[in-house]
Amino acid sequence: MANKNKNENGANSTSLTEFDAVIVGAGFAGMYTLHRLRGMGLSVRVIEAGSDVGGTWYWNRYPGARCDVESMQYSYQFSEELQQEWEWSERYATQPEILRYVDHVAERFDLRRDIQFDTRVTAATFDDRTSRWRIETDDGGQFSTAYCVMATGCLSSANRPQFDGQDSFTGPIYHTGHWPHEGVDFTGQRVAVIGTGSSAIQSIPVIAEQAAQLIVFQRTPNYTVPAHNGPLDPAAVAEVKADYAGFRARAKRTPTGNLFEVGGRSALAVSAEEREREYEARWRAGGLPFLAAYADIMFNPVANRTVADFVRNKIRAIVDDPTVADMLAPRNIIGCKRICVDSGYYQAFNRDNVSLVDISETPIEMITPEGVSVAGQVYEFDAIVSATGFDAMTGALLNIDIRGSGGLALRDKWQDGPVAYLGLALAGFPNLFTITGPGSPSVISNMLPAIEQHVNWITDCIGYMRDKGLARIEAQPDAEAAWVSHVGEVADMSLRSSCSSWYVGANVPGKPRVYMPYIGGVPVYAQKCEQVAAAGYEGFALS
Ligand code: FAD
Ligand code: NAP
Repeated sequence: MANKNKNENGANSTSLTEFDAVIVGAGFAGMYTLHRLRGMGLSVRVIEAGSDVGGTWYWNRYPGARCDVESMQYSYQFSEELQQEWEWSERYATQPEILRYVDHVAERFDLRRDIQFDTRVTAATFDDRTSRWRIETDDGGQFSTAYCVMATGCLSSANRPQFDGQDSFTGPIYHTGHWPHEGVDFTGQRVAVIGTGSSAIQSIPVIAEQAAQLIVFQRTPNYTVPAHNGPLDPAAVAEVKADYAGFRARAKRTPTGNLFEVGGRSALAVSAEEREREYEARWRAGGLPFLAAYADIMFNPVANRTVADFVRNKIRAIVDDPTVADMLAPRNIIGCKRICVDSGYYQAFNRDNVSLVDISETPIEMITPEGVSVAGQVYEFDAIVSATGFDAMTGALLNIDIRGSGGLALRDKWQDGPVAYLGLALAGFPNLFTITGPGSPSVISNMLPAIEQHVNWITDCIGYMRDKGLARIEAQPDAEAAWVSHVGEVADMSLRSSCSSWYVGANVPGKPRVYMPYIGGVPVYAQKCEQVAAAGYEGFALS
């Protein structure tokens, strides 16, 4: 049987249904997996729901969207030529610039010819008899493949809270993660933003400049650090490029795969004046390194409070209205929810056309035809921006009906939360791999190197299977259980697991609360993966 190939760039109008590997998703993870597996001589098909490559950066086109890991580090390192030839223009690249980079990669490595766009994978079923996966798509397509690589993204399944009456709203409701490609002109409009996570914090200052009136509905305030974004210094870029491999190697040795100075001392081992100087210097430098000032910030609540207090004081100094400043000042552990990196977020609340509504005690009651109703008051809008985030880490996988050996459904296996071996594989689901899955550093680290490390491991594993003439690899339940328990133990040692964040699934009603990423650090994790492979894939059964 042949499938229709909807890829305009593809050479074929029909395609084979038998592949060595099917990859689901054409973001950074799926693109690199395709490049590697094709280079090994495998027949590969990528299936992507969007109309082009880029994943996160294809979908998240909201105003102000950009990376918060520095561009020189938020990029592939697998090709020295690629990293030498690409020129980032800013410290933190904008979404359009990242998409241009993605396009460049797709062209340079001729990726699109093996990607089927506008197609959603709906089911994946393992056949114990043939040790192959059957992949089904929303257009009726069926594929048979020896290996299935889920490159479906950790932050790709939108969280859309269902407010009563929302279909009655007469204006548009936009989700930041599904932003219209043609852009949105808010000029002269009354706009609501629901949410105050990273997406909201990036978009609010930009929307505020356009809109006639902007009202932000805040359930939980977030800590954010200034980006101090700007053009990259050509001399600094040249210095990195003179030894990009060395730069990347140093980054790999850091806990989050991000090269910046990580303080080794306790925040409580220095005087209050010294701490203040350190926080001030890091605040002025900007970005995520701010939280790495001292070693115990994420482990000791007293140390954590010193830095949280510093940010709260900054908010009070920046925001003119003390009541608004107080509402914006978070009270919880800093870094428990992911900290944000902003360009003028707190300053936006000094504008006459921006106001804040606290919905922590009185949630949004309903959406009416005119706008948003809270505590009996209806706020009228022309447009609503839902910056409500994602069903993170598990959402995109559970959207697919994945059935492993003996018909085991992933939805059943993960009923009480995700269980996976190294975030790479699942007991009961042979020949299926997940990129940056639960139980790996993933979203707690710089995602580009995390993705590349997983892709290298998975493709090496497939190469090993081929060289040894093996057909089936499956994580063993005891190895999986031991890893999951280790992931939980490490999480419990940190303050990161102490609040209602999307890391624990708290943002999605009914989602089991499990701390999903592995926070033991990138070096420890990478070493464990290497040991497993070197020992002939310890913890896996191969046949
Ligand atoms: P994605 O880019 O999410 O790609 C997954 C793809 O799979 C999507 O295109 C999706 O359409 C497709 N897909 C999913 N399910 C199916 C299906 N059933 N059928 C077919 N296709 C499917 N990380 C950082 O390290 N630094 C940053 O600065 C940073 N900034 C971010 C900013 C935003 C706004 C967001 C949302 C995330 C950010 N991240 C950042 C995390 C980001 O998701 C990763 O860095 C990275 O882009 C993920 O790549 P991926 O290929 O794994 O997944
Ligand atoms: P998010 O961090 O989950 O924030 C969602 C916001 O919506 C929160 O403020 C949340 O409040 C609120 N919310 C959710 N449901 C709600 C409801 N029913 N009623 C009212 N408010 C509700 O999502 P995000 O901002 O899209 O960011 C997700 C992740 O993507 C980030 O943490 C980061 O990893 C990545 N990202 C990175 C960047 C970047 O700077 N490069 C930009 C965007 C996203 P509560 O906090 O109370 O749940």
